[in-house]
Amino acid sequence: MPVPKLPPNEKDRLESLRALKLLETPSEERFNRITRIARKSFNTPIAVISLVDKDRLWFKSTQGLAETETSRAASFCGHAILQDETMVVTDALSDPRVCDSALVKGKPHFRFYMGHPIKSPKNEPIGTLCVLALDPRKVTQEEIHLIQDLAFLVERELKLEKLDDAHKELILELDEAKRKALIDPLSRLWNRNGISLVLEKRVAFSKTSKKPFAIALVDLDHFKSVNDEYGHPVGDLVLAEAAQRLRKGAREFDAVGRFGGEEFIIVMPEVGEELGKKVCERILESLRKNYFAVGKTRIRILASIGFSICGEKNDWNAEETLKLADKALYEAKANGRNQVRFG
Ligand code: GH3
Ligand code: MG
Ligand code: MG
Repeated sequence: MPVPKLPPNEKDRLESLRALKLLETPSEERFNRITRIARKSFNTPIAVISLVDKDRLWFKSTQGLAETETSRAASFCGHAILQDETMVVTDALSDPRVCDSALVKGKPHFRFYMGHPIKSPKNEPIGTLCVLALDPRKVTQEEIHLIQDLAFLVERELKLEKLDDAHKELILELDEAKRKALIDPLSRLWNRNGISLVLEKRVAFSKTSKKPFAIALVDLDHFKSVNDEYGHPVGDLVLAEAAQRLRKGAREFDAVGRFGGEEFIIVMPEVGEELGKKVCERILESLRKNYFAVGKTRIRILASIGFSICGEKNDWNAEETLKLADKALYEAKANGRNQVRFG
């Protein structure tokens, strides 16, 4: 298979990509929203925002794909960034660019690809918005226009600053390797160490602004039974989907982390008891209202949440706040689960 050529501006392109500080960053709803729309609109099992790094593709947002990266040499997107138009592969087996790719010949046996290049604010192609399927497909002009529109929305997001100050400062401070070590690959959220660093920064920011913040602990209810009934790999897929729903239910500037196992933590700036409860209820609602679909299996997952406020009242003591949130979570569990408790 022809390995994708390097674009003429490869060096500048990579510099632009690095400057965006998107590689090895946690899941963001503003991008997840677009991949969800893409997957639904094109009725494909997979939709991805992929960033084409030196030797690999790193996925900023995925629907239907568990991996966080793949090799550039075997990729479709490596070819897609060489052109300005949308790249369409109606049947990978008969497309000389990709027919020998390991992803076509071997698992997952991709057959259909449509990807539109995403340009950096400096107009260099840094990745694609793409959809993939395991069966050959044709596309209409309308569909090509739609993926172009969605790719344009991704480009707009690249120009907007959306992250909370505490996350942002952390992301800017750390290099890619350090960020990678602070992100949980299954949920794409901050891991325990990562969210602990965000929390430290949150305390410093909130002390200055004198605005309290909330810590919410979210624990999935009876999750063990999902593993017992459907197996650990299905449990993993459900956990990843639950993480995305938490990311969606939280506000965009809230920081979301995986605290361990099936327990998550949300750090919510500028929140008192009333608003905190509202956000927590919204998160529970996002779990309640839809089943989790894994293949043909439909699974109902609920959660319990304990939250507490960190502020002047407790001298900005995050550890103490965490303890109170944990105690409230315990009460929510003891009281029948599927509910929010304030502590
Ligand atoms: P409760 O409502 O009391 O929280 O019940 P629970 O079953 O959720 O709680 P318990 O602590 O008994 O079990 C947690 C389960 O979460 C058991 C463990 O196998 C599962 N789990 C933790 N991490 C992972 C993971 O990464 N993948 C999968 N598939 N399961 C996980
Ligand atoms: Mg649990
Ligand atoms: Mg637990």
